[in-house]
Amino acid sequence: NLLLKDKVCIVTGAAGINGIGLRTARMFYEQGATIVISDVNADACNQVRSMFDAERSMVEVSNVTNRDDCVELAKKVVERFGRIDVLVNNAGITQPVKFDEITGEDYDRIMDVNLRGMLYMSQAVSPQMKAQKSGSIINTSSVSAQRGGGIFGGPHYSAAKAGMLGLGKAMARELGAHGIRVNAVTPGLIATDITGGKLTEEMKERILEGIPLARLGKPEDVAKAFLFLASDLSDYITGATLDVNGGMHIH
Ligand code: NAD
Repeated sequence: NLLLKDKVCIVTGAAGINGIGLRTARMFYEQGATIVISDVNADACNQVRSMFDAERSMVEVSNVTNRDDCVELAKKVVERFGRIDVLVNNAGITQPVKFDEITGEDYDRIMDVNLRGMLYMSQAVSPQMKAQKSGSIINTSSVSAQRGGGIFGGPHYSAAKAGMLGLGKAMARELGAHGIRVNAVTPGLIATDITGGKLTEEMKERILEGIPLARLGKPEDVAKAFLFLASDLSDYITGATLDVNGGMHIH
């Protein structure tokens, strides 16, 4: 029996070929979901379109920092599929800089994609979820939020990801009465393209020494946690933070 049969699931930032989002979309699809992939990268969107049966999928170029894009996306999904069961706020960017080096522009960019994007997309889907009296929103924070960075992203990334935890918990409180659950996942270091080739072997070695399970994470590791939080297996869980870090941060 499939865990997401007939559920309509949106995953943002999900067109990156080696990313957590696409791996999640594929896993959800295999579990019977109708999958909506959104990403700001139009080329990447074109590449993933053929991976899914058109009947059960939709791939849209959409920017999470643009409120109109978010509203438009939710509208299209409801028009085409009639409902929205799951939103995975996965779109995110990082930048490996030190505290003193963060410019105003860097701050805005990192905050906007990670934190404002979560707000706008969640606001865009919540009216439909309220009307259904059900829904699951999952936010992709980071171990960086919990331990104060120090893995790859800079302090502004840590702040944005910590902001996502606070916003998500407040949403869980407010939206619970409408049957909407809101949870977060805090991945450790996952091998994807987000590090943009700037993660050196030396950095990797150093990080590995601090991971009890003795390997870096894979996109699949995070996708499995998303699957649990998206499905009815977690139907009494809200406001929670699920660590997926191989024991890198035990607290
Ligand atoms: P990735 O770079 O492969 O994927 C991020 C995707 O988001 C890309 O496809 C990108 O085009 C898209 N995106 C960027 N800006 C966008 C915008 N404004 N609107 C819509 N889409 C946008 O990286 P990933 O590692 O798969 O990251 C996925 C999420 O996991 C991110 O939120 C990231 O911060 C988080 N995360 C990653 C790690 C890690 O180690 N890889 C650890 C903790 C948390």
